[in-house]
Amino acid sequence: MDDQHDIAALAALIDRARRAVIFTGAGISTESGIPDFRSPGGVWTKMAPIEFQDFLASEHARRETWRRRFAMEDTFASAAPNRGHRAVAELIRRGPASAVITQNIDGLHQASGVPEEQVIELHGNTTYAHCLDCSTRYEIAELRAAFEADQKPPRCRRCHGFVKTATISFGQAMPEAAMQRAEAETMAADLFLVLGSSLVVYPAAGFPELAKRNGARLAIVNRERTGLDRMADLVLHRAIGETLGAAVGVD
Ligand SMILES: [Zn+2]
Repeated sequence: MDDQHDIAALAALIDRARRAVIFTGAGISTESGIPDFRSPGGVWTKMAPIEFQDFLASEHARRETWRRRFAMEDTFASAAPNRGHRAVAELIRRGPASAVITQNIDGLHQASGVPEEQVIELHGNTTYAHCLDCSTRYEIAELRAAFEADQKPPRCRRCHGFVKTATISFGQAMPEAAMQRAEAETMAADLFLVLGSSLVVYPAAGFPELAKRNGARLAIVNRERTGLDRMADLVLHRAIGETLGAAVGVD
C-alpha cells in the first residue's frame, strides 16, 4: 500500500509539471552495476583521487590514472541502461522533461536514447578521451591496447599533448558551458526531480536549491537521506528503477 502511495505521489507531481529537469547521481548507475566511487567503501575512500595538477605535472600520476581507468573498463563497457534510465528517456521523449543534468560520467543516459544535446554532464564523460591541448578525440579501447603494450600514458598523435578521459577531475575547473546550461534549465523548470544523488557535492547540489528558491517543486528519489530532504515536496527513500519505472509506466 505504501508503495502504491509513493508511486502515485510521484506520478502526480510529474503529471502536474509543465517543464521538468531531471538531476541524476551515482544512485541511478549503481543499479546498472557501476560502483559509486564516493560512497563509504567506494574506490575513493580506499585510494586518494589523483588531482588534475598532479596529472599535468607527473608521468607517474598519468600512468596511475590510466591504469585505474583501464582496470574499470570492463565494468564501464559492459554496463547497460536500467529501468531508471529508460524511464528518464521516456520523460524526455514525451515530456515534461527538457533535460537531464547528471553527475555521472558513464554515458548511460545517451545509451538509453536521450539525445546528446539534452544531457548536461557536470563531471564530463569517461567513455572516451581527448587531448587536453587540441581536443582530438580518442577511443578507450584503442588507448588501452597501446597502454598494455608499452605501459606509457597516452600522448596526442597530432600535438603530443596529454590525453585524458573527458571527465572533470578533482582540481579541474567545472565545465562552464555545462554549468550555464544546467542553471538555465533549472530556472525554466517547475519540477526538479533528483534521482540517486545524496546532494552533498557542490556546486552540483546547488541546482535543486536554486530550483526550489525559484518556485519549482522538488522531488527526490534516493536510497539514503539527502542534504535537501527537508526542503523537498516529495522524498522517496527507494530504488530508482522500480519507483520511477512504475510512476512513468516503463519496464
Ligand atoms: Zn593534441
